[in-house]
Amino acid sequence: CGICGVVGNRPAAPLIFEALRRLEYRGYDSAGIATLVDGRADRRRAAGKLDHLEAVLEERPLSGTTGIGHTRWATHGSPNEINAHPHAVGRVAVVHNGIIENYEELRDELTATGRIFTTETDTEAVAQLLDYHLDRGLEPREAAFAVLQRLQGAYALAMIFADHEGLIIGARHGAPLAVGFGEGEMFLGSDSLALAPLARRIAYLEDGDWCVLRRDGATFFDVRGETVERPVQTVALMA
Ligand code: GLU
Repeated sequence: CGICGVVGNRPAAPLIFEALRRLEYRGYDSAGIATLVDGRADRRRAAGKLDHLEAVLEERPLSGTTGIGHTRWATHGSPNEINAHPHAVGRVAVVHNGIIENYEELRDELTATGRIFTTETDTEAVAQLLDYHLDRGLEPREAAFAVLQRLQGAYALAMIFADHEGLIIGARHGAPLAVGFGEGEMFLGSDSLALAPLARRIAYLEDGDWCVLRRDGATFFDVRGETVERPVQTVALMA
């Protein structure tokens, strides 16, 4: 169970894949990556070892410079490819670590609006609700905030949006998440190990924080949606 995100100026999938390798130690049962290709989220996922995902990526490489990746430790739904993250619904793709406690309530509400769920996961409720708000005309940031206000449970989230190249929104509530600062590229990761070779300058989200990443920097928000400053720490270069 780990998360990585890249808003970069070079192919994102190889960077994300290597970060997932560094998160392997946390344990996982499946993995996946989504990037924006020609404005749409394209995905590669595989059950089992990262070697399986690597084989899929070798056969069908993923281009794009904005992307998110995930190693899953299944809590809701079996560890198969359909339930593997990223979850893509309409104009969004989402990765999630943790548990959305009220996913059944959200799923019932969304099903009542005509939405059709295709996985067994709690996470799909997040992707569906996000896409629902985009459908209503909200901008990604507004939609993300509307979603976060509805979620109960513990989560770290990363989201990408069709036609919004160079944008990732991340959120932290009971599961760690860090932002790495690069040169004209920005990163998101479950821990500093995931970010280690990518960024020396790291800021940790505080519990309840969420963030908007673009290639030129990050904006942090608290649980009420107010912008906040989070200290940027410089980590020592690895030997
Ligand atoms: N609850 C989510 C799922 O089962 C995320 C699990 C995780 O933390 O990897 O898909």
